[in-house]
Amino acid sequence: MPKTLVYKFGGASVKDAPAVKNIAEILRNRLRKNMLLVVSAMGKTTNSLEKLLELKLKGKDFSENSSIIKDYHLGVCSELFDNGHVIFAHLENLFIQLGKELERELTEKNYDEFYDRIIGYGELLSSRIVSEYLCDQGLIVIWQDAREIVATDSSFRFAKVNWEGTKRNCRVQLQPKLDQYPVLTQGFIGADAKGKMTTLGREGSDFTAAILGNCLKAASVTIWKDVPGVLNADPKLFEDTQLFSELDYSEAAQMTYYGASVIHPKTIKPLANLNIPLYVRSFLDPDSDGTKIYGGAKPNNLPVIVLKKNQVLVSFRVTDFTFVEEKHIEQIFEQLNFLKLKVNMLQTSAISVSIVIDSELFKLENLLKNLHPYFDVRYNEGLELLTILHPERKLVDSQLADFEVLLEQGTRNTFQVVRRPM
Ligand code: ASP
Ligand code: MG
Repeated sequence: MPKTLVYKFGGASVKDAPAVKNIAEILRNRLRKNMLLVVSAMGKTTNSLEKLLELKLKGKDFSENSSIIKDYHLGVCSELFDNGHVIFAHLENLFIQLGKELERELTEKNYDEFYDRIIGYGELLSSRIVSEYLCDQGLIVIWQDAREIVATDSSFRFAKVNWEGTKRNCRVQLQPKLDQYPVLTQGFIGADAKGKMTTLGREGSDFTAAILGNCLKAASVTIWKDVPGVLNADPKLFEDTQLFSELDYSEAAQMTYYGASVIHPKTIKPLANLNIPLYVRSFLDPDSDGTKIYGGAKPNNLPVIVLKKNQVLVSFRVTDFTFVEEKHIEQIFEQLNFLKLKVNMLQTSAISVSIVIDSELFKLENLLKNLHPYFDVRYNEGLELLTILHPERKLVDSQLADFEVLLEQGTRNTFQVVRRPM
């Protein structure tokens, strides 16, 4: 039996009817048994569902938002299918289920669990649409509910994978199907031990592809994107970017760690552990090679630029005329851990600890509230964190001009600056 190939198609690759048709074209000469397709929600559906939940939480009317989501999916389908096609019954069914879920009571306390019951509908809808369309095109695939395969704990919204359970599900349920047909499933979602829907964190579909790639011991995983592959900077933000034809796992992992959004940060490890190559390729130019991320790539020396926006710089000053000690750092990190906040940059001085974090709703307020009794806390919002790997002086200087620099730090391999556009 040939080893499994995993293909992941993200939101942009299924955002409208022409995009879905394009996927069929990509698969026309590539689809085969032992191929697993992982799809995300269409376009910005996950954001729309989040918006709807926000309104529900505030007790506001969300019926218009529901209709927009429904009309969007029906609109795509009207371009892809004839009237009376079975897809319309599938969608109606999913929208009835979603409607029922939304009738339940939502409070701040059950928010995470409620969120996971709702948010995965984006993937359930898109995977139905894509699989029906492929089958119509003679590209026969089996639709698989990812909740039967991806086993997780019950940390709703950031579920942790139960690897043993997922491997067992792959062996018992998924592999036998893959031996007969290509299979199409959803990214991002899974289920806990009680069968409740869970999600892996925003943009988690790449991670799903890697989890299943690992559990199936796949030959490779391919992520189809709207960029030509992995570039040394985001082409939407920087000029003269260069495409990597290959990268090694650790270089790619570092890029994602610092915020390169081309792949989800958790994607590399499950693949690197088994030496499974990860391809990043363009769905707009499917015959080009893209980037191969694997263990044998030659080391990269080209500077890599990663920009993270919406950053907050928080400084904690010790108040009792002592110096910063381990216990202060421990106190701060305990709170960060409690609030599930990741530190993007850290700097300590004699009397203060400075951290840079993503700006996330409510979290900064809670952090300030909880640490205020122990420190004199100051913060600055609306900042950018720029990281350059393999920095060159000229490039660094060009990235400092025209900005107010709030914090700067560097080693031979990494340069980071927190800046504000002037
Ligand atoms: N649809 C989910 C999100 O937008 C998962 C994904 O696209 O990877 O976060
Ligand atoms: Mg998405």
